[in-house]
Amino acid sequence: MKRCLICGKGELVKVEDITLEIEGYIFIVKGERCTECNEEFPYEEETQRTIAVARKLGVWPEPLKLYRHLSKSGGGLVLRIPSDLEKQLKLNENIEIAITKMGNKIVIEPGSHK
Ligand SMILES: [Zn+2]
Repeated sequence: MKRCLICGKGELVKVEDITLEIEGYIFIVKGERCTECNEEFPYEEETQRTIAVARKLGVWPEPLKLYRHLSKSGGGLVLRIPSDLEKQLKLNENIEIAITKMGNKIVIEPGSHK
């Protein structure tokens, strides 16, 4: 059983009726929903598939929300950048990024400091 990361109380249950609205288009995807706060977590592959469809329709969701897991490496946490974003923002290992903490959010800005 998975616990919700948002409220820490509810359990995540599988659902098949998460609606993603992208620029007026409604997509129904599979994922998990919290029993307590109703926060929805679409599956990664579902989100990616939806984005692919949305792009064919000529829409790109912004701000785009993706769910990722952090991995542990050398005692620190590592965030893998989705390859979609890597290409879109032309990221590579030589680009410096700025990390800003905004409340409980983290903003990552590539190449903002030269
Ligand atoms: Zn919750």
